[in-house]
Parts: sequence; structure tokens; C-alpha cells
Amino acid sequence: MSTKNINSDSIMNTYGRKDVVFEKGSGVWLYDDAGNKYLDFVAGVAVNCLGHSHPAIVDTMKSQVENLIHVSNIYWTQSQLDLGEKICKESGLSSAFFCNSGTESLEAAMKIARKFGKAKSDDKTKIVVLEKAFHGRTIGALSLTWNEKYKKPFGPLVDNIVAVPLNDTEGLKDIMDENVCAIIMEPIQGEGGIYNSSQTFIETARAMADTYDALLIFDEVQCGMGRTGYLFAHQLYDVKPDVLCLAKGLGAGMPIGAVVVNARADVLVPGDHGSTFGGNPLACATGNTVMDIIGEASFLDQVKSVSAYLIESFNALNEKYDFLKEIRGSGLILGVETKYKSAEIIEKALEEGLLLIGAGENTVRIIPPLVISKEEIDIFIDKFEKILLALS
Ligand code: PLP
Repeated sequence: MSTKNINSDSIMNTYGRKDVVFEKGSGVWLYDDAGNKYLDFVAGVAVNCLGHSHPAIVDTMKSQVENLIHVSNIYWTQSQLDLGEKICKESGLSSAFFCNSGTESLEAAMKIARKFGKAKSDDKTKIVVLEKAFHGRTIGALSLTWNEKYKKPFGPLVDNIVAVPLNDTEGLKDIMDENVCAIIMEPIQGEGGIYNSSQTFIETARAMADTYDALLIFDEVQCGMGRTGYLFAHQLYDVKPDVLCLAKGLGAGMPIGAVVVNARADVLVPGDHGSTFGGNPLACATGNTVMDIIGEASFLDQVKSVSAYLIESFNALNEKYDFLKEIRGSGLILGVETKYKSAEIIEKALEEGLLLIGAGENTVRIIPPLVISKEEIDIFIDKFEKILLALS
């Protein structure tokens, strides 16, 4: 634990923080101000996809800083043009808008959905979302989010948003009508507990959006950018959205978000939307390097292979301790539901020099940097075994 006395009076009290002050990071490891070393299985909540201080990211940022950090979006920069082209090529979509965070990408997607709908009829403004969804903290994105605790103090929120349970195919069909302008969903729910959409559900969502002339919007802020072992999570299902929301891993730690659309959803015109910082050259140069590294088939194969090894290791540990209720998710976005409270596991993990985060009462979220090796998974499993010993 940190040795410093943390005087946080001047920081708004919006997070339940651990008493650790981090000073540096390297690969999958973080170091606090007392020199203690932690295995980072939080990765800035699925942000540090390439770990800490990845040489290619450091080099990109250094050289970009020396040339150009920011110009307004009333001009062009090559790094933004390049990043747009790469994302469109890989996703098969046609154009991108860059912002700075996940919640902003959802805000842009909501505006696209409403404009798309209202061009057809004034009543076509209904947005279908999923129970347990998490889409962000700004008023618009919060309105799409399920957890009442996050929303209640801040109402009234955006109206005409209706929710169905994930994988309730019949429920989704029942809720659809001609006034729906969009279905917004995470292909794999993150914050809500790591729940995969079923193949049938996601295909039904595509079909319903087509039948009712609505947009299918995938929020891949957490599950995208290589986390599933596919560059984009929807490639796991082979179902394409009309609108794709990205952030977190896209900048590997540099704040950047994107909303990417196909021709049908390309409805915004000058004056409709904007962002001062969105798509700045520093963020986009970093995003280009991330895309180049993560987009490699060998990188994605490694994510799949490490994931299989990790699941095997959890199952082997379960033979000894019988702690597992379920493992959900894909690639390196896994939810490990145990018979213990996730808060207890997380607390013990910190003592063992392991950073973990939960997703619900009994589910530990496994979202390490995508560059993690099998040797580092072994270190993780040793630490996890010590935690189980302490709890059992
Ligand atoms: N959407 C999803 C699926 C998320 O997991 C998050 C954040 O955790 C967001 C949106 C919001 O992203 P941000 O915190 O960058 O605004």
C-alpha cells in the first residue's frame, strides 16, 4: 500500500477509491509510490489494451507531441483521416466521428438515431435498450443505462427509451413497432455482469432493425478493440451494426472515442454535432498505432489462445476449491462468478498485489491488458489461489 497520506479534500468524492497512489507502469504491471508491484487485471477498466508504457505507443505519442497536439476540426489532419479509413476498412462501415470518451460516442449515436427516425416521422423517436445495460454517465447515455441507482438522482432523463431483457428474443419482437428509431446494445454486456448476447438474439436484433427501418447500434466501448479475440466484438457473431460506438482500448490510454456509421446512418451534416478535442492529432496518431497492432491476425489469435489457457486454469483451480459458479464472456472480457462476494475477492487481491474489478455482487471481471502472456496468467492464478485459500 502507498505510504503517502492521501489528502483528497480538493478532489470531488465521486469514486470509491482504494488507498493506492500509482506512479508508473510497465506491461501488465503497475508500481505504487512505495515501490510495490501490482499485476494489473483492471487495465484502466479495459483501456490499457497494450499494457503500460508500450514502446510503440510511447514512440507514437512522443513524435506526435513534437509535431502537432491539437488543431480544430474546422481543418484536416492526416492522423484523423488515416484512423477513420482504418476503422471503416476493418468494420466495413463508411464514416467515423471522433470524440473523447465512450459516453460521448453514445451521445452521438443517440443524436444519429433520433435524426434518422425523425426524417421518416415525427413519432419515430423510440429507442430500445437492454436491461442491465451500461452506456455511460452523461444525461443521454445515462438514460440508456439500466441501473436505477445511477439514474435516480438526475432525472428527468431523456424519454421514450424502453428496455427488454438481454436474450429475450420474443420480448424484443413484442416491443418493436414503427416508432422505434434504434436498438442500442452491447454485444457483450460489461458493467452489467459480463453477459454475451446469444447468436439468436443478436440476429433477431438485426432482423428487427431491418423490418422496422430502425438502426442497430452496437456499443463496443468495453467489449470492442480486440478484447473478444476479434477486432470488433460483432465479428464474433458475424452480425453488422449500422452504428458502432468505440472508445476505451482505441487509444490504449489516450482518451478517444468514435461513432462509426454505414451509409444508411450517415445522417449528420455540418452544424449537427461537434467536439473541440475530438479526433485531435495526438489521440488519432495513438489510435492508428493501436489499430495497426491489434488489427494483426496473430495478435488476435494470441488473445484467443491466452483466453483458453486462462479458462482452463480457472477450471483446474475449481477442481481444488469448488469456487466457480459460472464463467461468462469471450476472449479477455470474462466474468467469473464465484460463491464469494466480489468485493471480498478484490480486497484480498489488493493485499496480494493483484488489481481486480467486479461486475455485480459475485462476479469478478477479468479484463487484463491484451498483451498478457501465459507466464503472467500463471502468476495471476497463483495469486488467485492464495485469495481462495484465504476465503475458504
Ligand atoms: N459504454 C460501455 C459499454 C461502457 O462500459 C462504458 C464505460 O465503462 C461507457 C459506455 C462509457 O464510457 P466512458 O466512461 O469512456 O464515458
